[in-house]
Amino acid sequence: MSKRYYIETMGCQMNEYDSDHLSRILEDSGYLRASAPEQADFVLLNTCSVRAKAEQKALSRLGRLASLKRKNSRLLLAVAGCVAQQRGVELLERFPGLDLVLGPREIGSFRGILGKAEKGGMRVAAVDVHGTPGSFLGGFEYFQHRVKAYITIMEGCNNFCSYCIVPYVRGRETSRLPQELLDEARSLALQGVKEITLLGQNVNSYVNEKMRFPGLLQAMNEIKELHRIRFTTSHPKDLSPELIQCFAHLEKLCSHIHLPFQAGSNRVLKAMKRGYTREKYMDLIGELRNARPGIAVTSDVMVGFPGETDEDFEMTLDLIRRVEFDNLFSFKYSDREGTPAAKMEDKIPEPQKLARLDRLQELQRKITLKKNRELIGKNLEILVEGRSKKGQSLAGRTANNKVVNFINDKRYINQLINVTIKRASFNSLWGELTSLRC
Ligand code: SAM
Ligand code: SF4
Repeated sequence: MSKRYYIETMGCQMNEYDSDHLSRILEDSGYLRASAPEQADFVLLNTCSVRAKAEQKALSRLGRLASLKRKNSRLLLAVAGCVAQQRGVELLERFPGLDLVLGPREIGSFRGILGKAEKGGMRVAAVDVHGTPGSFLGGFEYFQHRVKAYITIMEGCNNFCSYCIVPYVRGRETSRLPQELLDEARSLALQGVKEITLLGQNVNSYVNEKMRFPGLLQAMNEIKELHRIRFTTSHPKDLSPELIQCFAHLEKLCSHIHLPFQAGSNRVLKAMKRGYTREKYMDLIGELRNARPGIAVTSDVMVGFPGETDEDFEMTLDLIRRVEFDNLFSFKYSDREGTPAAKMEDKIPEPQKLARLDRLQELQRKITLKKNRELIGKNLEILVEGRSKKGQSLAGRTANNKVVNFINDKRYINQLINVTIKRASFNSLWGELTSLRC
């Protein structure tokens, strides 16, 4: 009987991309995909540790998965991703049922480690932060039959924002070779992928002796079979004039940028070591909107950074009102062990963080709804991805990353179609079909 594997992915798109590589290695090694962990011989949890809550969620899920060993002693259980990197061998001690701990830069060694683990009796923590990440392995044929795909173009981060664990668990910035990325994108496009999202913790600091990020976008734009290009996540301090000009000239580059601002107070931005001011951030938004009128802007923001006063928080709300983001991912600051912010004084009490988060989210809800309603009556192109969350209609995304639901007709799945927007809510839009592009 064939061996089966099950992978569960938490956290960011880079983890999803890594999970694809791990799946491919498992399938090359003779495993078939299982639809539930109970049916698998190999179970892997790919984790995120960027916030305390994500780490707690990962550890409690790992505990539940480890209990499967009681029913199936031959099961191999592995944990990958940022929690694996951060906690390493400690996880083997805490979870006796765990066999493998695999850091994000050990995916290159996974095939060999798997072979040894299958022979039995070996528990391994592989967490070399200088090793080979999944994205450097190639082998993208695995991703066929998709209409959207991710390509990780660089790994790691050199910025060391004072609150962030990423540089410690993902290592220093390493960019992939441009030719390899272009070959991967072309191959995906020839397999039917219409939209590619270029990924990196700090994607716009992509650099190679032959090309920087704007050059890479330009070259991707020339791939004939590709329809849409996106990228995430960008850092405001690395958003060069050349990159902003890409939005003016590259027709395949989608009208959307995710540009985290984190805080609206210059004092807090400095304590976070972000490397820009609120004024600089707002200037960048102005330049982006000049280069590509109507561009959607989304962002990440935190409340309750150590020492954040009421005035600092009001500055954050003020920036949100001025910029009018299309959407925001908002978080309560949480201590991450080993980061400078975790050692700072003047921690904000949880109830105060929650009250600030509620106020911020309420403000953003109104802005998002207003922006979505402005689209009523507009004719927009969407890439149809499949059924909507509730399953009663199909859902697709506009170039500026808004979800549009429309009639349930599976002929349109994976197609680029035009719809007229009829209704708008906070979460999504409702459209009616106007035309189909092949
Ligand atoms: N590289 C991106 C940037 O420069 O903003 C962010 C990547 S981080 C994985 C995703 C988001 O998690 C951050 O933008 C930040 O808002 C949030 N985050 C990071 N560390 C956090 C912490 N200690 N507490 C709460 N939120 C945090
Ligand atoms: Fe973390 Fe992003 Fe700052 Fe890097 S740039 S340290 S990933 S928040």
